[in-house]
Amino acid sequence: MSETRTIAAALVSSLPFPAVLVEQAGRIIIANSPALALFPGLRAGLPLALSLRAPDVLDAMARARQDGSGHHVLWQERVPLERVFDVHVAPVSGLSGDPFLVLAFRDLTAERRVERMRVDFVANASHELRTPLASLIGFIDTLQGAARDDSVARERFLGLMHEQARRMARLVDDLLSLSQIEQTLHLQPADKVDLADVVGYIADTLSSMAEERSVTLKLALAEDVQVPGERDELARVAENLIENAIKYGGEGGEVYVDVAREGRQALLSVRDKGPGIAPEHLPRLTERFYRVDVGQSRSKGGTGLGLAIVKHIVARHRGRLEIDSAPGEGASFSVLLPLFANGAG
Ligand code: ADP
Repeated sequence: MSETRTIAAALVSSLPFPAVLVEQAGRIIIANSPALALFPGLRAGLPLALSLRAPDVLDAMARARQDGSGHHVLWQERVPLERVFDVHVAPVSGLSGDPFLVLAFRDLTAERRVERMRVDFVANASHELRTPLASLIGFIDTLQGAARDDSVARERFLGLMHEQARRMARLVDDLLSLSQIEQTLHLQPADKVDLADVVGYIADTLSSMAEERSVTLKLALAEDVQVPGERDELARVAENLIENAIKYGGEGGEVYVDVAREGRQALLSVRDKGPGIAPEHLPRLTERFYRVDVGQSRSKGGTGLGLAIVKHIVARHRGRLEIDSAPGEGASFSVLLPLFANGAG
């Protein structure tokens, strides 16, 4: 290797982002380790075109060779994974000996995904709010017009309006909770919380809802399961999971709520014997606004945000949420949390 080539190769290999040094003719001189992590097929000595099926990138290389200046191209890879890169192709000028090209890659995939999620989220939230709002406006119009002097209709409409307004309030509350938890996601809560105590309290507050649906809550709460946490947030987790099991677990069924130690972790498990959830839905249940059956969720007062809130709270507590279900065999939601360590937290 000529000296300039050795220096250029050493520089490229020390860069912290994916970069490849290529001869004018298109043969790879070196691909640094971030580049190899992204594209394991890159080999020194082989033409770049053999391992990157990216006509736009090859075009940019040709243009850089011709005009001696740098070029940006967006390169979208579809297989094996969908990924998007911003590729900067620049000739290395001012060196003696062979001229080279440097290709620098910036992976935009995660950025794009976040952006798409944000756009979807705003669209979903607006849609969810617009539906009850449209029906409220409709009822107000009717009360001001056709039903103006009909006291029976008025009572009925006011009841329906109340229900729609409560739905909007629930949605706004859930949206605010989500954004609050998101803002503090990086701060692990450290108070000493007795998990059985929190879960027992929530089960009590939900006992009348269970009774209305003839659901029996079966509690098995081990004592002295302490976790570092924020009591209100852990209560929210228990509330969402037990409420879901009551709502979706089938009228007249049983819901099992356990708190236990499992090795070095605390376990909260909520199981029902209801219709369960088909496997294709399981990975998406914790997405905002994802419901297996939108009509059913709405009719039960759901916002589609409960499990997203649970997931965020569990993540903030450095725990894990596991969901198991088979259609016809009920659903099981397990939250595993680190135990409180004396002196640590
Ligand atoms: P929702 O407000 O709709 O209840 P969640 O985020 O709490 O929103 O739950 C998302 C969806 O997951 C629900 O709409 C329902 O389809 C499904 N789900 C949650 N818990 C259960 C369960 N115990 N059994 C069956 N389906 C469930």
